[in-house]
Amino acid sequence: MAKDQEKCSFCGKRKSDVSLLIAGLDAHICDACVAQADAIVHEELGALNKNVDPKKFELLKPIDMKKHLDQYVIGQDDAKRILSVAVYNHYKRISQKPSKTKTDDVEIEKSNIILVGETGTGKTLLARTIAKMLHVPFCIADATVLTEAGYVGEDVESVLTRLLQVADYNVEAAEKGIVFIDEIDKIARKSDNPSITRDVSGEGVQQAMLKLLEGSVVNVAPQGGRKHPEQRMIQINTENILFICGGAFGGIDKVIGSRLKTNMIGYTSASEREKIDKDNLLQYIAPQDLKAYGLIPELVGRLPIITHLNPLNAETLKRILTEPKNALTKQYMKLFDIDHIQLSFDEAVFDLIVQKSIEYKLGARGLRTIMEVIMTDAMFEMPSQNEEHELHVTLKLAEEKINKIDRSLLMVA
Ligand code: ADP
Repeated sequence: MAKDQEKCSFCGKRKSDVSLLIAGLDAHICDACVAQADAIVHEELGALNKNVDPKKFELLKPIDMKKHLDQYVIGQDDAKRILSVAVYNHYKRISQKPSKTKTDDVEIEKSNIILVGETGTGKTLLARTIAKMLHVPFCIADATVLTEAGYVGEDVESVLTRLLQVADYNVEAAEKGIVFIDEIDKIARKSDNPSITRDVSGEGVQQAMLKLLEGSVVNVAPQGGRKHPEQRMIQINTENILFICGGAFGGIDKVIGSRLKTNMIGYTSASEREKIDKDNLLQYIAPQDLKAYGLIPELVGRLPIITHLNPLNAETLKRILTEPKNALTKQYMKLFDIDHIQLSFDEAVFDLIVQKSIEYKLGARGLRTIMEVIMTDAMFEMPSQNEEHELHVTLKLAEEKINKIDRSLLMVA
């Protein structure tokens, strides 16, 4: 094509009609289209990362950090304290200027965190709330879909792709982000004996994760997956990325129990043995329990901060329903308020929701399911009724709605 006939492949304008025409392999793009494409990319990714803003980063002191968490997460005081200290130290370590004096060669090591607790007790909520508070990029990965490179599934590096996308491809911001790896217990080695044949689902993935957790430079596919083999890789240093792993570790209480029993025999008095709270053995969790459960020692070593979340009892569930800054009841009130309807509840309705949630073993997630059952009819009908400006949910009404639905629906929720 003659130079003067070259056109922008996007808008069709000729070279003579634009300020700048950039040539690619088989196409051209003009400056106006570059600007427009850039705006689209920002808009599309903006929704994902609207909370990320490196300029807003503010490191609260551990006590203030815990106070902030208290506004969103009910109970779990041990986990909040340990997390607050760990996160504070992590970001203090990052912000540390390299020492000018030769005498100080103390290097603070990175400390990733592992949260152990039943599903629905607030592990993800804690990690997410911390990231939001710090305005750092945050993403959640499910350990069960990760595989070693070369197997069907997602490479471990794909976790960083997501973080990079949330950070709007700002590598520097991504390198200070937080990654929550859920269901880490599901990649535990099935037996305690290291096998000769590689175990794809478990140990291999744990091995692959070591590289991320310890802090190294990893090649990341910006668009993820293996669908775009031609894309240029971006290098990400994981040294300052905080990894928070979470898992339910079902049955680990037996491992903890037997360790405690063995340790105690012969060393302690009967009165000390009695001090152990047998109903919540998770609070005594230690690295060796994670190893016994099937996490490889190297991985446990890179997750030096262990803490537990307590199971939620009826009292905590009721508080979750009403107290947090964005508690479920407050969310429904806001939804109704948009239609100028004032929503209120009998106190007994909350007890009923909690009771049903426990009955159907739905935990904190069940609160929403049951609330939805109670509220759906009203949310369907009321916006069209112009004369109603108030809805008071009585115990009788709540019971009617719950009794009306097919119970099997709740069982699978
Ligand atoms: P996990 O990661 O432990 O499985 P999540 O953090 O995803 O559980 O919790 C599920 C939902 O339950 C959250 O969205 C939140 O609404 C609620 N929830 C659970 N635990 C708490 C808690 N301690 N305080 C407030 N809300 C909670």
